Amino acid sequence: MFRQNSPLSISRPHVRQSTKTLLACFFLLLFSANVLAAANQAEIVLDKNTKSHILGTHMEFLEDPTKNLTIQDITSAQVASKFIPHNKDFPSFGFTESAYWYRTEIINPDPVSKKLILEEVIPYIDSIKLFLPDPANPGDFITTEVGDKKPFHEREIDHHSFLFKLTLEPNQRLPLFIRVESRAALMTPFTIWQAEDFYKHSDNMAFAFGLFYGIMAVMILYTFYIYMRMKDNNYLYFIFFICSIAMMVSTSHGLSYKFLWPESTYLAERMQVVCISAIQFFGVLFTRNFLSTRLTLPRIDKLLHSLFVLHLLVIIASFLVSDVIPLAKVTIVAVQFYSPILFITGFLSWRMGNKAARFYLLAWTSSIIGSYVTSFTLLNVLPYHFILLNAVAIGFLFDATFLSLALADRLYVLRQERDKAKQMAHDALQSAKDTLEDEVTKRTRELEEAKKEADMANQAKTQFLSHMSHELRTPLNGILGFAELLLTDKEAPLTENQERNTNIIHDSGKHLNALIDDILNISMIETGKMSVNPEVISFRDDLDRALVVISTQAKKRKIQLHDATDLNDSYWITADSLRLRQIIINLISNAVKYSPEGSVVTVALEKRAGKVVFSVKDSGKGIAEKNLCLIFEPFTRLEENKDGVDGVGIGLAITRKLVEIMNGRILVESIVNEGSTFSIEFDEAHPDPLSAAQISEASLPTESQTSARGNGSETDPSVILYVEDNKANQVYVQHIFKRRPDLKLLCSETGKEGVSLALEHNPSIILTDILLPDISGHEVLKELKANPATEATPVIAVSANATSSDIETGEKSGFVAYLTKPLGIAELLDTIDNLLNCNEA
Ligand code: ADP
Repeated sequence: MFRQNSPLSISRPHVRQSTKTLLACFFLLLFSANVLAAANQAEIVLDKNTKSHILGTHMEFLEDPTKNLTIQDITSAQVASKFIPHNKDFPSFGFTESAYWYRTEIINPDPVSKKLILEEVIPYIDSIKLFLPDPANPGDFITTEVGDKKPFHEREIDHHSFLFKLTLEPNQRLPLFIRVESRAALMTPFTIWQAEDFYKHSDNMAFAFGLFYGIMAVMILYTFYIYMRMKDNNYLYFIFFICSIAMMVSTSHGLSYKFLWPESTYLAERMQVVCISAIQFFGVLFTRNFLSTRLTLPRIDKLLHSLFVLHLLVIIASFLVSDVIPLAKVTIVAVQFYSPILFITGFLSWRMGNKAARFYLLAWTSSIIGSYVTSFTLLNVLPYHFILLNAVAIGFLFDATFLSLALADRLYVLRQERDKAKQMAHDALQSAKDTLEDEVTKRTRELEEAKKEADMANQAKTQFLSHMSHELRTPLNGILGFAELLLTDKEAPLTENQERNTNIIHDSGKHLNALIDDILNISMIETGKMSVNPEVISFRDDLDRALVVISTQAKKRKIQLHDATDLNDSYWITADSLRLRQIIINLISNAVKYSPEGSVVTVALEKRAGKVVFSVKDSGKGIAEKNLCLIFEPFTRLEENKDGVDGVGIGLAITRKLVEIMNGRILVESIVNEGSTFSIEFDEAHPDPLSAAQISEASLPTESQTSARGNGSETDPSVILYVEDNKANQVYVQHIFKRRPDLKLLCSETGKEGVSLALEHNPSIILTDILLPDISGHEVLKELKANPATEATPVIAVSANATSSDIETGEKSGFVAYLTKPLGIAELLDTIDNLLNCNEA
């Protein structure tokens, strides 16, 4: 009855294609691949093999501009003839104030009844009424109504699409009348399904949606993570952008209505507009920030800024106005320019050399392509296929993916820039380092040169002191020597007066000699030239030797030296024996000097907490506490203790330095008018038994010395040879030997003459000065040692070179003794006698 081809008495609906097309872009209509094409008739044959049919070309329609027509009017012969065939798959009438009626017939050719579902997927249609003939009252119709003006729970079937349940009896022809009305763009794609197939299809769609939202969720999480790490707003805008896409897709499929706001027709009505505007709003925001259009493309940026403001206003206004249709129209007009404008922006930015714009361009290309493919499908330009129909959703997926890649690319570009900056910083640092190294090398060289100069100056100073000492000692040798000769000449004794005066000469000479020694010592210490040879030694031995030396001085002042050391114990320390003796003598000498005549000076060695402590206690005037630190300063003498006591104030300074060089400590305790106690302490050492034995034997003559001395058969024991260029010294020694008629002294002024005299006369002992006019005393020794005739003859050095290193070098090079000038008579004769006695033994 509806298959009449009525003339087009009712004008074709005014289809506003542009708006219709663009709005359509955002409705992702997911249709089954099983949709079958059918003949263009207002009927649908649903046999058992047909799963579904699109009503599109299989229906007729009628516009009802008054919206007053009833089903009775529609089925009346007068109106029924005005229906016209619908020759497109997709019924779309744009924004219209009219109501539309559709009619078709569904035919069941099979002898079994069928359960059917009529589906309409666009969720925002205000009202869809289905009229089915009432089998109980022929001529009457049963009406079912759905639409977005009704809360979700009123729907007969709990589904995001609008659905109607139908039953088709065996071999039945079921006429369908549908009335649709909407203030929004009117697009109402109807599909009739076999119920079972519809639910299968619905499950597939749920899977497709799950996939879509899953991808979106991963993208959001991933971008959010990068945002948290980078704090770059681009990532935040991108998150909002894809959230808007997800929300728009969900809203356009009725999913938001079902799951998010099922009771709110208020939101159901306006969220579509809000989502479309939000996509454009965040898309523009992202673009401006990502491509830095404000700086690079200021004109386009102004346009983008206007779009940004427009969409912001639309979003706000959507929640304030009661009628959102005008806003929907604004949004749809704007959306026509949206993708092309952003595409052009990306293109210009890329042309300007912005590498990050590559993926951005791809993103908008894919969304533009997607939109147009969907539009052309809806316009029936492209063949009807569900993938093509959903191209816009797929386009957005690619859009989001490419923008995500663009952001990743940006990360890469940033990293490259950072690496470049790092490299530049590294290069700059390297060059600074090189410069610094050059500078350091230069400075080091300068410092080395300065040090060399300082060392040379030091050396020169030491040499000067050494020379001075030598030069002073040589005449001093004469002064002291002859004074001593006069004082000890028993053949021509001096008168009392002469003896007193000669004693003064002798004492003054001694004083001068001590002064030279002290000055030399302190300068050596200060220039670091003072060499010490630390070895494990017995403190007791050195104390004994020092006590012998000091005993004469003590006797003179009638001072008793009391040794309180426990003789059963041994006291080993690591120190230089020579220096230790010097220290001990200094301290005891001071105690003797600064104690009243007839008093007692107590010395003692003790062991305390792993230390060996040596103390010297006197009963002198003592030292005030405030002066205790002063006495160790060079050339400091305390007024209260000065009276009648010789000294220059260097002794304690030298003592402290020597103690410290040998890792010891010096302490002083004093009570004024009661006395002072000076003590020194060193770590206790533990010699192995073997070395201890060696050390105790050290004082005995060595085997070579003994054998040298034992070689007396070839030498004349009475002949002593003295090699000395200084006449006064020669005469002085000759005078000494005059007191020993048993000995014959031969003298030579040069080294070479000395060596030939030695070969000629085979003296039992040879005395030699070190500084000779031709060869040195060391060379004399060398030549004598090189000759078998003289190699065993003991050679004694007699020199004014009296520094410790001179003495050390002398002893090392093979002199049996190293006597320093001024030369004491007894000292010389004792040494000679000792050697002669050894020879005899
Ligand atoms: P010197 O004895 O040649 O003056 P020192 O350096 O040995 O030089 O001593 C510095 C000063 O310390 C002495 O002048 C003296 O005033 C004081 N002094 C040193 N030892 C004692 C002591 N045992 N008793 C009192 N005063 C001392």
